[in-house]
Amino acid sequence: MSDPHGTHAGRPSFDSITASLAQATAVPILLRTTNPQLEFHDAIFSRVFNLRRPSFTSSSPNYPARLPFGYCQPLTVSDIVACIAVVNAEKKRISVRSGGHSWACWSVRHDAILLDMVDFEGGVGSIRWEPEFGDGVVGCSTAVTSAQLNEFLEKGQRMFPGGHCPDVGLGGFLLQGGMGWNCKNWGWACEYMVGVDVVTADGEVLHCNETQNEDLFFAARGAGPGFPAIVTRFYLRTVPLLPMWQSLYFFDIVNFNEIQEWIVKLSPTASPTLEIVLVSAFIPQSSPAPTLTAVFTSFATSHSDALAALKPIHDSLPCAPSSSPDHPNRFCQATSLPAEYAAQLAGNAAPGFRTRSDNAYLSNDLSPSQIASALKPAFSTLPTKQSTALWFAMNPTSRRELPGNMALGMHSDHYFSVYAVWKDQQDDEKCDEWVREVFDTLEEDGKTLVGSYLGDADFQFRQAGWRFWGGKERSKLEEVRKKWDPRGLVCGFLVGDEAAREG
Ligand SMILES: Cc1cc2nc3c(=O)[nH]c(=O)nc-3n(C[C@H](O)[C@H](O)[C@H](O)COP(=O)(O)OP(=O)(O)OC[C@H]3O[C@@H](n4cnc5c(N)ncnc54)[C@H](O)[C@@H]3O)c2cc1C
Repeated sequence: MSDPHGTHAGRPSFDSITASLAQATAVPILLRTTNPQLEFHDAIFSRVFNLRRPSFTSSSPNYPARLPFGYCQPLTVSDIVACIAVVNAEKKRISVRSGGHSWACWSVRHDAILLDMVDFEGGVGSIRWEPEFGDGVVGCSTAVTSAQLNEFLEKGQRMFPGGHCPDVGLGGFLLQGGMGWNCKNWGWACEYMVGVDVVTADGEVLHCNETQNEDLFFAARGAGPGFPAIVTRFYLRTVPLLPMWQSLYFFDIVNFNEIQEWIVKLSPTASPTLEIVLVSAFIPQSSPAPTLTAVFTSFATSHSDALAALKPIHDSLPCAPSSSPDHPNRFCQATSLPAEYAAQLAGNAAPGFRTRSDNAYLSNDLSPSQIASALKPAFSTLPTKQSTALWFAMNPTSRRELPGNMALGMHSDHYFSVYAVWKDQQDDEKCDEWVREVFDTLEEDGKTLVGSYLGDADFQFRQAGWRFWGGKERSKLEEVRKKWDPRGLVCGFLVGDEAAREG
């Protein structure tokens, strides 16, 4: 097969392509129907973070089967245009993968061709400064990760407030809004987007920004998997690289109410240099009960500024932290992005585990003690030793008016998420049930939860009343999706059983 658009050397040669497809495109597409099952299965799942994967065949009421139609690794924009021509000719759909870290495995869709952006325009090689888009603007393709981008930026003493986990792809992260470093004060990562390049469902290649194709630009900042086109390149504003310091305190879970109330109270007026998180996890995993960790990460220009930010917190601890030689408390210790990425990797569920996440924004009207009462059950009853629950301070960003032309319009002072993590398939039900119960209980009074973040959501389990956007943004997003992708070529939100719907 000729390859006029780029070099596919070194990749598997997908030669089993139907005649009509071969005529239409020069890009190799691996087809389920004509390739050995194992090879196809591998291509579909090898970069999926969550080991709980939708089966091709066996369905459960909670987790219906999804049987993709094909797999394609585009290297160039022309590859994507060619693939879209095939998809349109065959009346199929397209799903997209950047980093493969969607908890709900959104890139694996029934009867769709999966566009895997892993090597698109050279992957990491696509990262370069884009001075014509503004001072300090960097561009990259979408499978590039936060850690890869920040490694590049460090050489220019700049950084991007990307995700905390080093290997999350910027594609899924930014389209959902992006709760990146110091989001509480620096705002959403998608606010740093100055433009995107896309290929539309008609195969048109466009640049989108505040003044050009501005409705697609609106959608690129918060539509998540509902973005009605393929993003090929992000243009991102960067910020000066700041030194980092951190205080970290471990507490017994019996002190939960006291600690949660304390951290809720101090967060809105804490120094704007501080990111503030409270996590429940088994530390070490052999311990009989979860431990609470309060983490204060400072991005200040000097050690004295970091001390000024962290000292009032240190002086106001409401009870003595617990500590062990392996897990000592810290006060204003130097750290760095690479060190924090390494800590995230060590602390996160490794690939090789089954996971299920869910999340909610809690109402700003709740008092600190009401927040503590609402969250205590989740924080203290983690279903397995690898599971975690997290509260992330969002005030003052949550009190700011967000930029108008942005789909993301939902947030509150309190971000709460859980990550059930387990090893054996036989625990699927138990872990699902735990997550379901946590959120059913919180939803009971109709006042505690006000919305949800796409990044940790799974609509097959809970649609959170579709409060992922504000009302205005949601209506506009629906219009933009209808205008740019009326046939639904890009798979969009995964709800229910796609295979069953098809009949
Ligand atoms: C360990 C871990 C840590 C995390 N930490 C954070 C965090 O700190 N902050 C945060 O906000 N989120 C976080 N998340 C959530 C994460 O941002 C989302 O799961 C995100 O969707 C992952 O992006 P991805 O590109 O890796 O995923 P993928 O599964 O590759 O993509 C997810 C979906 O995004 C869409 N998409 C991706 N690329 C494109 C494209 N080029 N064009 C069109 N659509 C596209 C598709 O619908 C795709 O199915 C974390 C997730 C994990 C697993």
